[in-house]
Amino acid sequence: MFVVTVDESTCIGCGECAKACPAQILEMQENLAKVVGDDCMGCQSCTLVCPVEAIKVEEY
Ligand code: SF4
Ligand code: SF4
Repeated sequence: MFVVTVDESTCIGCGECAKACPAQILEMQENLAKVVGDDCMGCQSCTLVCPVEAIKVEEY
């Protein structure tokens, strides 16, 4: 499985990750990206579009 984490102190709230995720794992809440789903497929779209490298996707 893949575990997604957002570094909230780094996130600038641009919303690109939420738009890019094909599985609706990420949602914008109060100008920060939040992880709201648990069926991440590990595509790395979110990490690729994040301009500040705030997202990590790790396989366990
Ligand atoms: S790796 Fe892909 S499926 Fe997982 S949260 Fe990022 S964009 Fe969504
Ligand atoms: S792409 Fe990066 S900076 Fe933009 S909302 Fe997502 S985590 Fe935050």
